[in-house]
Amino acid sequence: MERTFVMVKPDGVQRGLIAEIIGRLEKKGYKLIGLKMLTLTPETAALHYAEHAGKPFYPGLISFITSGPVVAMVWEGKNAVKGVRTLMGITNPTEAIPGSIRGDYGIDMGRNVVHGSDSPVSAQREIAIYFKEEELVDYQRDMDKWIYE
Ligand code: UDP
Repeated sequence: MERTFVMVKPDGVQRGLIAEIIGRLEKKGYKLIGLKMLTLTPETAALHYAEHAGKPFYPGLISFITSGPVVAMVWEGKNAVKGVRTLMGITNPTEAIPGSIRGDYGIDMGRNVVHGSDSPVSAQREIAIYFKEEELVDYQRDMDKWIYE
């Protein structure tokens, strides 16, 4: 099973979308194995978004992502990275397809309510920023036999 890192961004928290976002991932069949609420420090934000340092939108991104609490999560499932990206929709919410989280709940690129890792390598890197291995919960779900063939 693959792990992916998901974050309800400050706009998602402020707009009351925590349960909606968790609910969509949970109903799809992914398994929640780690969750915490925190406000990012500029240092953590810079680590998370290191690949974007120097880009024009970077200062705005860092100030936005540190502007209020976020919900950081680890979800597990078959091809979870790709599947969660599909559920989230593309980066620009105006172009994200309706039915996706960003397509249903966003307009501006810098207010796209949710983050999800873009590759298994990013997922590993991002999970390590927010969670110690012992904070991730190992458990079985009986319903998995109704999700996976
Ligand atoms: N972003 C932005 N303006 C841009 C590009 C990106 O504000 O022109 C923000 C946006 O919130 C996005 C985040 O920076 O989610 C990270 O960008 P990335 O290209 O990694 O998109 P994602 O993987 O989040 O879809």
